[in-house]
Amino acid sequence: MGKITKYLNQLIVGNVFDTPEILETYATDRSVLEIKPKFVAFPESTEDIRKLMRFFNQIAAKEIPVTVNVRGSGLDEGGADLGTGLIISTEKLNKMLEIDPRERLVRVQAGMTLKELNTALSVSGLTVPIGGHENETIGGLISNAPVDDYMGKYGGISKYVERIEAVLANGEVLQTMRYRKYAAAKKTAEKSLEGDIYRKITKLIDKQKRLISSISKDEHNNIGYCNITNVLQKESWDLKPLFFGAQGTLGIISEVILRAIPISKKPARTVATFKTLEQAIEFMDAVSVLKPRELNLYDLKIVQEARDSGKNLDGVIRKLEDGFVVYLAFDERQNYYMKKLTAMRDKFPRNAKFIYESPENKLILNEFENTLANYLSNMRGGERVPVLTDFYLPPENLENFLKDLKILGEKLELDLALYGSYSSSVYSLRPKFNLEEEGYNRKMATFLRAGAYIIDRQEGKLTGGTPEGRVKAVVTNSEIPEPQKALYDEVKKIFDQNNILGADIKLQASSKFTLTHLRTTNSPRIML
Ligand SMILES: Cc1cc2nc3c(=O)[nH]c(=O)nc-3n(C[C@H](O)[C@H](O)[C@H](O)COP(=O)(O)OP(=O)(O)OC[C@H]3O[C@@H](n4cnc5c(N)ncnc54)[C@H](O)[C@@H]3O)c2cc1C
Repeated sequence: MGKITKYLNQLIVGNVFDTPEILETYATDRSVLEIKPKFVAFPESTEDIRKLMRFFNQIAAKEIPVTVNVRGSGLDEGGADLGTGLIISTEKLNKMLEIDPRERLVRVQAGMTLKELNTALSVSGLTVPIGGHENETIGGLISNAPVDDYMGKYGGISKYVERIEAVLANGEVLQTMRYRKYAAAKKTAEKSLEGDIYRKITKLIDKQKRLISSISKDEHNNIGYCNITNVLQKESWDLKPLFFGAQGTLGIISEVILRAIPISKKPARTVATFKTLEQAIEFMDAVSVLKPRELNLYDLKIVQEARDSGKNLDGVIRKLEDGFVVYLAFDERQNYYMKKLTAMRDKFPRNAKFIYESPENKLILNEFENTLANYLSNMRGGERVPVLTDFYLPPENLENFLKDLKILGEKLELDLALYGSYSSSVYSLRPKFNLEEEGYNRKMATFLRAGAYIIDRQEGKLTGGTPEGRVKAVVTNSEIPEPQKALYDEVKKIFDQNNILGADIKLQASSKFTLTHLRTTNSPRIML
């Protein structure tokens, strides 16, 4: 154990490790990257995080910079939770601290997972409706602010976060709140990093009014610190929006107050199969008015691959060779939505096949729900690593995108089967790459750049569903307009003067570093 590790272990109640096995475990996440850290810390309290940050900030001020990255469950698909210095894992910060069922408010530590949160809330008949991976942590969710599968109906994580507590780069704690003019002025007068932040951000917003108002406010903008557009609202200030999509570069989220809603009924599901995309879109447009909780689109090839590996999906696929499958789920009672769907039936294409939720169809619907996991986990001959995932496509350009995609797939000899959420317009591609094959990195980089090109050509956004991290940054960092980049660099500097928090991700990520840290072994883990 090195000297620094020993010192840090004396400093905090939790543990710090530098053993090769632990460093190796934390060198990978769900992305295609592998980056070995020097230390991994498991703080057990906010105080532990504060001490760690104070130490690393002090040594950075003495010109010994060690990058600090935060990790929740490590489900990040863009490598933003990996780093070369210290990894702070929030694994031990997973407690529910308070719940007020009447006000429907809950205070949790940032390392609590979505599943842990919703299981605990269910006792009070409440939920936070995010259609994400059940193991993602609340800190990870806020920091990635992904456009989730329920976003179309429920609005996504930012709608449910009331307040954030974060440890700043120098170890101070900041609690977000919306301040009116007078209170904000008082804040800016405080002699602390928090006071500095309020003062400088307020000034920056005032100075860059025009630029900020030109930045898109829509939910599919997820680059840099674009949520600066929401800090000033009707003469009141709140720093909370800046943490959405910040990927741990502005502060380490330690606690969160969330607003829950009443739990909905077990969803009633339907799977429909169509011969053409046009028919599938016609159907999805018709049912969208019923506000399903989920409305997902899958290239039929994804279902075929799951069937080839033994899933009983004959009821879904029939004799079709090409086509699209739509999955939809409603919160309302089965009878209610069945009536509505039946009333609309004459609007649906004649040759489409429907499987509605019923006791007889339960098994096939359960099997269908697992098709995507099955497709993504098929490890024979390579790995379906996330490179072009969670990008935005406008619904009206979906068909043209698929035409471009077909050409790209033929050129690169890749199986490019599209899937995603029609209700939130966010899609993914997961072609297989053999990470052990020489030259795969070049092919993957070409796929990333060419894919990004056709997304852009069809007016989509590469970072439409998740921020740039390290992987998407290979493309976005060379494209971001200079004034916007300068604005985001300024925000980062205001929060983290010594540049230690996630110092080489997002706008500071280097393509060269990313492309030289691609994994060279297919992971033995199940890669969902
Ligand atoms: C199979 C699979 C399916 C997925 N499906 C969905 C989906 O349907 N919907 C969806 O929304 N997302 C989905 N994701 C994406 C993923 O779940 C999100 O990126 C999630 O937010 C990551 O949570 P995490 O706890 O694993 O965070 P990590 O991967 O550990 O970290 C993510 C980012 O957040 C930062 N971070 C983590 N904790 C903190 C903290 N306390 N303070 C500050 N920064 C922090 C990290 O530094 C990193 O930049 C999926 C991922 C996988 C692998």
